[in-house]
Amino acid sequence: MPEYHPPLGSRDRLRLDFNENTLACSPAVLAAIQNISAADLTRYPEREPVEAHAASHLGLAPSQVILTNGVDEAIHILCQAFLGTGDEILLPVPTYTMYEIYASSTDATIVHVQAAEDFAFPHNALLHAITPRTKLICIANPNSPTGAIATRNQILEIAAAALHALVLVDEAYYHFFGETVIDLVGQIPNLVVARTFSKAYGLASLRLGLLASSEENLHWCRRVLSPYSVNSVALVALAAALDDQPYLDWYVAEVKSARTEFLAALTQLGLKFTTTQANFVLVNIGPAHREFVHSLRSQGILVRDRSADPGCQGRVRITIGTREQMRQAAAAIQQFLASSLTGATK
Ligand code: PMP
Repeated sequence: MPEYHPPLGSRDRLRLDFNENTLACSPAVLAAIQNISAADLTRYPEREPVEAHAASHLGLAPSQVILTNGVDEAIHILCQAFLGTGDEILLPVPTYTMYEIYASSTDATIVHVQAAEDFAFPHNALLHAITPRTKLICIANPNSPTGAIATRNQILEIAAAALHALVLVDEAYYHFFGETVIDLVGQIPNLVVARTFSKAYGLASLRLGLLASSEENLHWCRRVLSPYSVNSVALVALAAALDDQPYLDWYVAEVKSARTEFLAALTQLGLKFTTTQANFVLVNIGPAHREFVHSLRSQGILVRDRSADPGCQGRVRITIGTREQMRQAAAAIQQFLASSLTGATK
């Protein structure tokens, strides 16, 4: 199994490296946490009432939803529940690293489907890669680290072509895209949708994710689920976060304006990037990608070198935060470009 070591440490700078909310969660969440009593903390957490709350928020039945310790745990339990010897998991790549990590902890075979150079969703290649052994297909939508999307029709076609497999649509970045297939949960028998509260909601530290699927599919997941993997502080926070829609709407709108402005700034600086529907952008820095990351770090901004991802040579992923933060990022990039030009002429 490969190990996953996220580059944490000294992150007290402008964090544009993990696609988190770059500002804060809703103030209502903090107030709810401050109301937790010492006696509350003595009890094991009860996820069901908040699970029902989250399900109704999404227009689903409580039996169609499982709250998890981040989407990472959701991916882990899917792999544990459904993958075994002789099975195949299909991963369009580049994509989110943890699919591969958790699949590696099973005896299933991992089949990669490489996206073309523009990183568009490899729909036809994925359709062709489906075999009778395919058990799980993971589609991050929008995808990370590219920001590329799969259309609803593409997802429907894949689900129809792989009725013997589960299709996980990981909608971690849904809010910045606006399109979902969660309304099809229950109607499409092999569809599983994941949502996280780590991104737009700004609750990454509390580890909160959600898995939505038919009652029958989730029945298998519940068998391998730890009963108390979502702690009670997270449950209190989630209920408050779901009730503060205006805050979420405000943050998402802010990021979307920042995205428009920042992408225009990148174009003006002559940088090439992949079209994105998420709160991040994959920029093609080329051979100087390491110097770029170092330069931004020295200017107080963290970004993520993704050049080791399949097909991503020279690419750096930059999270989109607020307009003010992205103006700071654009200025730092300009500074890097100016100094590397000066270096080149020396
Ligand atoms: N899915 C995707 C596509 C992601 O990018 C991430 C976060 N990096 C996750 C899932 C993990 O989310 P969580 O924090 O809920 O575990």
